[in-house]
Amino acid sequence: MPAEATQATLEIDLGAIAANWRILRDRHPSGPVAGVVKADGYGLGAARVAAALHEAGCRHFFVAYLNEALAIRDVVPDAMLAVLSGLIPGTEDAYVTHGLTPVLGSLDEIDRWRGRQAILHVDTGMSRLGLDARELAILAGDPGRLNRLTVRYVMSHLVSSEVPDDPINRLQRERFAAVRAMLPPAPSSLANSSGIFLGPDFGSDLARPGAALYGVNPTPGQPNPMRNVVRLSVRVLAVRDIPVGTSVGYNGIWTAARPSRIATAALGYADGFHRSLSSRGSACFDGTPVPLVGRVSMDLTTFDVTDHPAVQPGCWLEVLGPHLSPDDVAAAAGTNGYEVLTSLGRRFHRVYRTA
Ligand SMILES: *Cc1c(COP(=O)(O)O)cnc(C)c1O
Repeated sequence: MPAEATQATLEIDLGAIAANWRILRDRHPSGPVAGVVKADGYGLGAARVAAALHEAGCRHFFVAYLNEALAIRDVVPDAMLAVLSGLIPGTEDAYVTHGLTPVLGSLDEIDRWRGRQAILHVDTGMSRLGLDARELAILAGDPGRLNRLTVRYVMSHLVSSEVPDDPINRLQRERFAAVRAMLPPAPSSLANSSGIFLGPDFGSDLARPGAALYGVNPTPGQPNPMRNVVRLSVRVLAVRDIPVGTSVGYNGIWTAARPSRIATAALGYADGFHRSLSSRGSACFDGTPVPLVGRVSMDLTTFDVTDHPAVQPGCWLEVLGPHLSPDDVAAAAGTNGYEVLTSLGRRFHRVYRTA
């Protein structure tokens, strides 16, 4: 597709993702750092991301579902590739055939697994997946059930790691230690992105960061230690002057209080630009913010460029990038940076940068 045919360009900096992985590795001296590339690499392209991480030296990868693992197996042929969602009945052979590592979270899954290696998931507070207290007690009383398999890691997942003073963090760490003492000795895996920044007490034999690799701030409220990874630029399709009292967009939720210039940009909620940004979000032109006015619609979004006479049809507005991080957009949209990234649409012209 020729560049001039594109109405929006998503630039993804694979070099910055690799640099972020190195930052996390240096922050987690107790053991290696995996790459979590579920949800198509948090929306940025799992195959490209996994290849870049692998080149940086990453040898452990996590996805959510079996089909996500199959899609990138060839990209990381020699790495551990683990599937977080557990062992759905009937999928056992696919795991064995492709050398995948299931994350087992129930006695039934343990008993059904006929492969060699697995990760054992224990629930220390999330109440979603993982062995619960009742199942752990049964397993501790019958450790022979684990004899057939090599437990590569005993794993748990933190509930509230981005809130350092939430007491659940310490509680989960203590529960995790207690659970590990009940089971045959095995390496451990605990911290996600924010968990790595909770300090050495949360170190383990394998950290599992996702969001921070992609530039989401793992330490909300403090300076972001990660590099920005994405830039989304969208084309201005039209610019018009409207008199005082004229409304803009569906349902007329915004009305000009002064004679205004309105730029209509090639982006909408079908591109993952959340409708909740209506009259709340912003874009950036030449490094200065331009307020979003009116409703975000499916394919179009309107901005007040009255104070930016240089904005003309054909110009580009930055809606994500160095001036407007996924966390900034998330704050305006009432969500988190994870959802902003994983929502990024399929209509963008994607460009991968390696330096
Ligand atoms: C998604 C996920 C991660 C990665 O979490 P981030 O907060 O994105 O770093 C780690 N472990 C498990 C079990 C997950 O589901």
